[in-house]
Amino acid sequence: MYRRLRAHSGPWDMIVAGGGATGVGVAIDAAARGYSVLLLEQSDFGKGTSSRSTKLVHGGVRYLEQGNLSLVMEALKERGLLLQNAPHLVRNLGFVVPNYDWWEAPFYGLGLKLYNLLAGKYGFGASRILSKEETLRDMPTIRTEGLRGGVIYFDGQFDDSRLLINLVTTAFEQGAVLLNYAQVTGLTKDAEGFVDGVYVRDMETGEHFEAHSRVVINASGPFTDGLRRKADTSTHPMIALSQGIHLVFDGSFLASDNAIMVPHTSDGRVMFAIPWHGHTLVGTTDTPIAEPTLEPAALEQEIEFILQTAALYLEKKPTRADVLSVFAGIRPLVRSSESGSTAALSRDHTIRIENSGMITICGGKWTTYRHMAEDCVDQAATLARLPEKPCATAHLNVHGHHPASDQFGTLAVYGSDALAIRTLMEADPRLAEPLHPALPYTGAEVVWAARHEMARTVEDVLARRVRALFLNTRAAMDMAPRVAELLGNELGVTDTWKSAQLQTFRETARNYLIPPSRAAA
Ligand SMILES: Cc1cc2nc3c(=O)[nH]c(=O)nc-3n(C[C@H](O)[C@H](O)[C@H](O)COP(=O)(O)OP(=O)(O)OC[C@H]3O[C@@H](n4cnc5c(N)ncnc54)[C@H](O)[C@@H]3O)c2cc1C
Repeated sequence: MYRRLRAHSGPWDMIVAGGGATGVGVAIDAAARGYSVLLLEQSDFGKGTSSRSTKLVHGGVRYLEQGNLSLVMEALKERGLLLQNAPHLVRNLGFVVPNYDWWEAPFYGLGLKLYNLLAGKYGFGASRILSKEETLRDMPTIRTEGLRGGVIYFDGQFDDSRLLINLVTTAFEQGAVLLNYAQVTGLTKDAEGFVDGVYVRDMETGEHFEAHSRVVINASGPFTDGLRRKADTSTHPMIALSQGIHLVFDGSFLASDNAIMVPHTSDGRVMFAIPWHGHTLVGTTDTPIAEPTLEPAALEQEIEFILQTAALYLEKKPTRADVLSVFAGIRPLVRSSESGSTAALSRDHTIRIENSGMITICGGKWTTYRHMAEDCVDQAATLARLPEKPCATAHLNVHGHHPASDQFGTLAVYGSDALAIRTLMEADPRLAEPLHPALPYTGAEVVWAARHEMARTVEDVLARRVRALFLNTRAAMDMAPRVAELLGNELGVTDTWKSAQLQTFRETARNYLIPPSRAAA
């Protein structure tokens, strides 16, 4: 990446600040149209919200209730395109909505029929009303007391940070330059005061450099307002931050390939219990917070709320002792429109052309990242007076695209890359051994992540190249020394680096342990 950066002369067509789903989506779109693009991420790709989602590729049943049909249709179309473009990472998942009241079956039955109809040719399968027996067949661990039946509908599920890493590679293959651990610390301006580039700090070496472009795009998620203030100190905040947490348990709490969707929790929200990588993922919450941080912590009341709600719907009530991992993410919600030249292209995401000439894109959701990027690059190209070029991502395969990657077993999420990882294992059988008995991950994946996926730290590997930290924190902590060894050898660093990495990883991992254990760690 640095070689490509140095080889580039003159201003970039676009510079993107932020390496989450939004920023990387923009980088792919711009590069695929033939624009030159540089993306800068202050930490690791996906360190922000994009590795901390519920992992659903969905139209949003909630929007349906709000009557926002066009938004649902847009997201359902994107869901279909994502399945087509990244079949190794997106799968069709059945969601059982349990019914304990007489009115629920007709009400949700009808609503979910409409949900499926809106998907049109991008449908994932027809929803059905289930008898009590059928509900228990499809979701054997659901609370039986008072159960009348259920409704099953189909939506998409994915691995968020794994998709993001594949998207980074896709953007690279399209010609983009993407750097992790490169923070935008300020904005350069031309003689008329319009933003024309960025000041960057290499977070590994501490060195600073400048990069110039025809347009700068702020895709910094929860940090959006901070970067906007760097461009214009008088700007008003445009986002409100809301935290959502998930608890992870072992797979026995669902014991099914289907998920549970609870349409109305006691706080009036939707909650999911989802099978994910052999575990059970339960979430989420909605708690306003004041400041963005890269490592948000779950609050005590959020943990209790999820445990209590899960206990209402599961036969086997999960307790604190059952929690293998807890993780929190921050939604950058767009406030009502402020003064200034705003182009709100949809009620879901917002694209704003700032007075400084910088473009800010935020809001939306993972599912619609491609569509958001298309809107954003259209706007950016017009603003920068670049030659008009059509969007090329609707049918662009994501790196790793493989129509039948299940055949690769525990390496299925790597899609076509699984073959190269197997080759690493064949060359050195020690790399084929699992790093921990509770998880399927191997040394070969660490080597792969270092060589091909820009993993720079133990956390990059254990949190986002594989999902150990999110699935089983203690297992991830046990794996860390071996990961430090393998990664350190690949990066050619000293033993001091390895011990410093271990120390830092342990500190971060504590945030994923549920308190008592957090204190004991
Ligand atoms: C709890 C929760 C559950 C969700 N579940 C779903 C779901 O199931 N399905 C779905 O479709 N959507 C879901 N979403 C929404 C989805 O996760 C987000 O819309 C999406 O991840 C936002 O991506 P982003 O790139 O805008 O932000 P981020 O992923 O946060 O990326 C922004 C990046 O910018 C970087 N950055 C910040 N400042 C700078 C700087 N100065 N220089 C360089 N880099 C910088 C940050 O480090 C960060 O990595 C969920 C969100 C939450 C919070």
